[in-house]
Amino acid sequence: MVTATTDVAIATGTGTSTRRGRVVVATELGYCWGVRRALDIVQSAADAGGPIAPIGDVIHNPQVVIRLRERGVEGAASVEEAVDRGFRRVAITAHGMGPHLAGEAAQAGVELVDTTCPLVTKVQRLAQKLARQGYFIVVYGDSYHPEVRSVIGWSGTSKAIAVKKVSDLPWNAARGQAGPDTVTPPRKVAVVSQTTKNVDELMAFARELQAMVIPEGGEFRLCNTICEPTSERQNALKRLIEDEQVELILAIGGKKSSNTARLAEVGQSLGVPSHHIERPEEIDPSWLDGVGLVGVTAGASTPDDVIQAVVDELDRRGYIPPEGGIRQIDPDYVPAF
Ligand code: SF4
Repeated sequence: MVTATTDVAIATGTGTSTRRGRVVVATELGYCWGVRRALDIVQSAADAGGPIAPIGDVIHNPQVVIRLRERGVEGAASVEEAVDRGFRRVAITAHGMGPHLAGEAAQAGVELVDTTCPLVTKVQRLAQKLARQGYFIVVYGDSYHPEVRSVIGWSGTSKAIAVKKVSDLPWNAARGQAGPDTVTPPRKVAVVSQTTKNVDELMAFARELQAMVIPEGGEFRLCNTICEPTSERQNALKRLIEDEQVELILAIGGKKSSNTARLAEVGQSLGVPSHHIERPEEIDPSWLDGVGLVGVTAGASTPDDVIQAVVDELDRRGYIPPEGGIRQIDPDYVPAF
């Protein structure tokens, strides 16, 4: 494919450069605190004590999965499968697991390493507490996602459901309404969110559900459990679009990464063509036609070297890389929870 290019003089901190444009990166991007913490724990455990099998996807990034395998960390679908493959240790990933897993590990006689992100643990325990207080639990999130399944598991009740839109709810009318095929919510309903969801979409969902629950003495609770690192990434992307007026967004992350998909959606919803890519080779030359300013963001499971590889590819295609590199890491950072 032949791509139209227009060389322009770009102002930089050190003068001007005749290039096609430049790259700007979001101030918050890539590995979140919880993923970094989980990887540190599981890698240290493998280095010190030999092979270990996280149950499920250890991280939604194929490049990291390959690297972990080389260090003795290899995912298994279940405790049973891990034992069959000879593992004597299993791990819970950052996404968390239901309470059944500890029992399965104990029964199989294998050691259990828990790397659940504390911000996910908070949602699990909150759902449990709300269920004990008599609330029907609505988890706003992807029903197939391990984190959401773990929250449902910890709620310890059959009165819990995971949904992404109001039409997926088991109710179709507001309390007090009656008629054939009318199903109304119970008196007490609480919403918690998957930690990686978009806050604007959560609010829109909650507003509709609240209108169904509140009539006739209903009680509605919304717990915004979207984690601080996710909110920071979405807000940093909004700032990038508003302050820098970027013309294209590249959101880097594994295809199964929910929060990377959200980042691309945020860019698109703000009117900037946005693409979710896993690796630099996926950049379609036509996306860059006439584009001078490319914004880069990355999901919580994307390692720095993959972000850097995308920036390097853009450099090869005529875009000046960000002056300060892709980001600074504060080793003392701990999110609010
Ligand atoms: Fe923890 Fe948030 Fe990262 Fe999930 S996205 S691992 S909740 S910090």
